Amino acid sequence: MLCAACKSKELPDTYIEGSDYQYMNMESLRFTLRHVRGSKGPYVLHGDYIYFIDEGSNLILPLCNKADCLHDQETDPEKYAYCNACMLPADGFPTGQLGISYCNGVLYCLDDGFNASPPTLYRLSEDGSKKEQVYQWDNCSINEWLIHRDVLYFTKQVHENIDGKIKENVQLMSLSLTDPAKKEKPVFSADADLDIFTLGKPKAYGNHLYFQILAYTPSEEEIDDDNFLTYLYYKTFVYDILNDTVTEIVLPGTSQTEFISSLELWNDKILLSSFDFAPGGTAESDWYIAELDGSNPEIFMRDVPKYSSFVSDGTYLYLTNAHKVARGEEDEDNLIYEVFDNNLEKIDTFKPPTTIIFHEILPLGTDVMYLQYSSGDENSTAWGVVQWDKQIGTYHGDPIDKDVVKIKR
Ligand SMILES: [Zn+2]
Repeated sequence: MLCAACKSKELPDTYIEGSDYQYMNMESLRFTLRHVRGSKGPYVLHGDYIYFIDEGSNLILPLCNKADCLHDQETDPEKYAYCNACMLPADGFPTGQLGISYCNGVLYCLDDGFNASPPTLYRLSEDGSKKEQVYQWDNCSINEWLIHRDVLYFTKQVHENIDGKIKENVQLMSLSLTDPAKKEKPVFSADADLDIFTLGKPKAYGNHLYFQILAYTPSEEEIDDDNFLTYLYYKTFVYDILNDTVTEIVLPGTSQTEFISSLELWNDKILLSSFDFAPGGTAESDWYIAELDGSNPEIFMRDVPKYSSFVSDGTYLYLTNAHKVARGEEDEDNLIYEVFDNNLEKIDTFKPPTTIIFHEILPLGTDVMYLQYSSGDENSTAWGVVQWDKQIGTYHGDPIDKDVVKIKR
């Protein structure tokens, strides 16, 4: 039973700025956490370095306040780890895949490890004065993760040797970052006989954490394009953080070949797309809207082209074919974003900027958005960040060029 005092400590089931997973900063088809907003401004990850964008001077600065440091210009590998902005480990190994997150006054960077080098979580101060190791894992892989309200949620993959057979064990775990004991707790364990392709795609909002499993059930025959639907196990779950329970989210009246393929956050609710894998199926999907716990799903929009996605920035809802373009199923010139308001009125349409090259990026963020770009030249490592001062309602199908400014390095 919950006492009155404990109950009052419960956090609301809404978005809390500063402590919550920044769903509006998710920018890619694949899992990446490459930019985040802290209390002093935006931070971006590029290569092995973390940068701060000084909105006052419009400069990109390495997140290191050491006066005697060359930061990303350093050429001596012995000195790399000295730089607070540099995430290369001191043992000389390269980093694995890096991601950054912000929570309650500090930045976190998770390096998922490279070969022999173990996955490690670092904590960095927002002013670039401190970088410290918070946690390190042994004998496992850390896949997709996020930080929400001082808790790290992550997928942990362990290879166990059972009677001479290597068995893979995949679990979704949590780790409280404020608890000095630093104890990992299982949130969800997949059925042991599943052949898991993905356990992840985490998203968090309020007192809920969402994740998906894409797997195959055991089969005697080889799984191919013709029989995969017989064995496909594709489920979306919600973890109720307060009650410590996991429930599958189910849509009404869907067929055996239909699965929830995406989940987006919008107006304190969730949007879910129903994807039909049946051969010769329609080119459209229906989208549903449901409560945060997955209850009361209702039709939100019918006949939305498959592989189109909704994304929200907290103010507007965007429908884009960016994923379709990234999959090579739509020409890059046709990349488009449609903007809807609270009443689902379409209020604008725009294209990405023409002057710079993006890769699989959904332009989100709030009023002002910072987007990373590359030169597009294979032989060049040039990169940068542009500031997009969003003027929704003024684009009328044009590229957003007029409101995009390059930030200096
Ligand atoms: Zn430095």
